[in-house]
Amino acid sequence: MSASRDAARLAVHQRQPRNFDPPRLPDGHRAPVSAYFGRHVLDLLKLKERLPREAYQSLLNTLRNGTPLQKETAETIASVAREWATSHGATHFTHWFQPMTGLTAEKHDSFIDLNASMSGELKVLERFSGSMLTQGEPDASSFPSGGVRSTFEARGYTAWDPSSPMFLVESVNGRTLCVPSVFISYYGESLDHKTPLLRAVEAVNRSAVAFLKLLGDVDVHSVAATLGVEQEYFLIDRDQFAMRADLTLCERTLVGAASARGQQFEDHYFGSIPPRVLAFMEEMEFELHRLGIPVKTRHNEVAPMQFEMAPIFEDVNMANDHNALAMDVARKVALRHNFVCMFHEKPYAGLNGSGKHCNWSLSTDRGENLLEPGRTPHQNLRFLAFMAVCLKAVHDHAIAIRWSVANANQDLRLGANEAPPAILSVFVGDLMTKVIEQIASGAAKGADPEHFVIEMGVGKLPQLARDNTDRNRTSPFAFTGNKFEFRMVGSSANCASPLTMVLAAVSDALTQMTARLKARLNGNNRDQAVLDLLREVFAETAPVRFEGNGYSEEWKQEAHRRGLPDLSDTPSALAAMTPEASKFLVEQGILSERELQSRWNVSLERYIKTVMLEAETLAEVLTTQVIPAGELQLERSGCAASRIAAGTKKNTALDRRVQSIGAALDDVVASADALRDMLDADEDGHDEAKLARRLADEMRPAMQKAREAADRLEHLVNDDLWSIPKYREMLFVK
Ligand code: ADP
Ligand code: MG
Repeated sequence: MSASRDAARLAVHQRQPRNFDPPRLPDGHRAPVSAYFGRHVLDLLKLKERLPREAYQSLLNTLRNGTPLQKETAETIASVAREWATSHGATHFTHWFQPMTGLTAEKHDSFIDLNASMSGELKVLERFSGSMLTQGEPDASSFPSGGVRSTFEARGYTAWDPSSPMFLVESVNGRTLCVPSVFISYYGESLDHKTPLLRAVEAVNRSAVAFLKLLGDVDVHSVAATLGVEQEYFLIDRDQFAMRADLTLCERTLVGAASARGQQFEDHYFGSIPPRVLAFMEEMEFELHRLGIPVKTRHNEVAPMQFEMAPIFEDVNMANDHNALAMDVARKVALRHNFVCMFHEKPYAGLNGSGKHCNWSLSTDRGENLLEPGRTPHQNLRFLAFMAVCLKAVHDHAIAIRWSVANANQDLRLGANEAPPAILSVFVGDLMTKVIEQIASGAAKGADPEHFVIEMGVGKLPQLARDNTDRNRTSPFAFTGNKFEFRMVGSSANCASPLTMVLAAVSDALTQMTARLKARLNGNNRDQAVLDLLREVFAETAPVRFEGNGYSEEWKQEAHRRGLPDLSDTPSALAAMTPEASKFLVEQGILSERELQSRWNVSLERYIKTVMLEAETLAEVLTTQVIPAGELQLERSGCAASRIAAGTKKNTALDRRVQSIGAALDDVVASADALRDMLDADEDGHDEAKLARRLADEMRPAMQKAREAADRLEHLVNDDLWSIPKYREMLFVK
């Protein structure tokens, strides 16, 4: 055993960075990114070149006004797409969609078609029709639907989302044309992450334009949401990953003693990137750029073997598709480099987990960022109004937003001392706080609004807001000068869900503030009416603003005093999603009641399945790996101690060692038994909410107890007997 263990360790350490073959200039240097960016995307530019004018105009019309794609246009686009794809070596096409599994899904079809002539000769040709482009029908009965589809009406339909361009995915032996799609039931109910996001984008557009009109911005015709995702991940050597059942089945370590060296030296963050990892990043980024994904930033994160990538921000729907695709590409490219890329929120106990910071803002069709202070008093007043909208959104809909980031993995991260707390609050920075508090206290009342805005320093907002960036890392929802950074989202999440919630909440806040502003305007001075409304809204939403340390115990107490929801785990977030908490989603047209119910069911079901799988896996690891190693060690140590005792009669320390091993082993056996009993018990089999609560209150703590015993044993057992790769082996790859 020891020989193969050593060989495996050495192999991991001796692996070399992998070369790949990027496009080169005639002089042999790598071609610049602009030479291949977007090469694998059938974007608008390429369509413009290839489509007849009317067809292109008709597509633009669909994109701008949401009119359904004309049949003939679809036909023409499909034929252009087929030609483009096959000329790039594609043999298949697939509708690419985002079901509620959290992964992306595809079902490939070949372009092949048979054409029989009159005389009966068969001719093979490529075909891709308009209806194949706009609609597909995957055999979808096994995607989670939370009860929306019973299996007898099992069909789920995918339909092209024309706002997201088609792209080519490369595999070892070929290429596939991917058609980004929504996924809906026969009755039009959403079964995916994308559809509600598109609805939320539309809702915000509608309500923001109406609000802006009242503010005097009559030239704005549409408002879009922008998103830039900072994606964290861990890399682990593929062999070590394969040797751990907990990683292969659950993507997190269920046992594993801390390594003496962890993140305490703070030397990994922004440190020089290990060559093997850098080689992986270079190849991944090349693939992402070819797919038109504008990744820009790469760096080491806080924990050893933890990294981050971030793109330039884009329209939210595009950015979300790109993030989902980037995760796919990262996983695939990692394998080529003998790594596994892990997006789990908490792969290692005692080290930082991974998040997905969602930077977002709202921008007008005139290119103005609505969360960026401007140069004129009017722009600044508008900026303050949108600040109020965001505060109100989080204040009023904290429960729904909290639920949108809840899952079994996140329960291990949120509220721990390295991630945002589970309590939603908003950080706005010192200057903004001063401005907001002055307005809320009524200082603006009766003042000449224009002067007030200037005097209060609001005229200086642009400069001062800029150094707001990143001042408070402990806030779940931070204003960073010209955008908000929502930090609660988990690294494995499809960020459409949290963004859907945030945008729906924003849309609701806009709707309410529009109604209130209308009532106040009635012949009054507009700026004064706006300031009066801001005074009310800033005062109402004061409890949700918090500038201090979000990790502290005092904040928890303070948040409870303020009446903010503190939903520490998934079962409590699910329980808090009452009809009251969720009705804005129905009112804003984001989710129907049935869709809401189905999503609630899926989230509950996934929580239960995840924790049960972990418990089942842990029980197996304990029984088949940890306990046998402990038994062998106990036998050897006991034997050695008694031999030595026979000779020296002076072996108290050795006896103590044998006792420690025995005690740790006994604890592991007892806790493995306890886990087994809990797994076999099935009392609340049918009340799933109750079962989830019990898993959180009893199963997870029992798993923790078992783990502590196993980790104690790991420190006492001969290294050769321990078949599970250790933290120190997995975390320091060069
Ligand atoms: P930091 O590192 O301070 O968090 P960065 O400037 O690096 O901030 O930006 C982080 C992410 O925020 C990037 O993906 C960036 O493109 C994105 N971002 C910047 N401005 C906006 C915006 N107006 N809307 C959405 N995302 C934005
Ligand atoms: Mg950031």
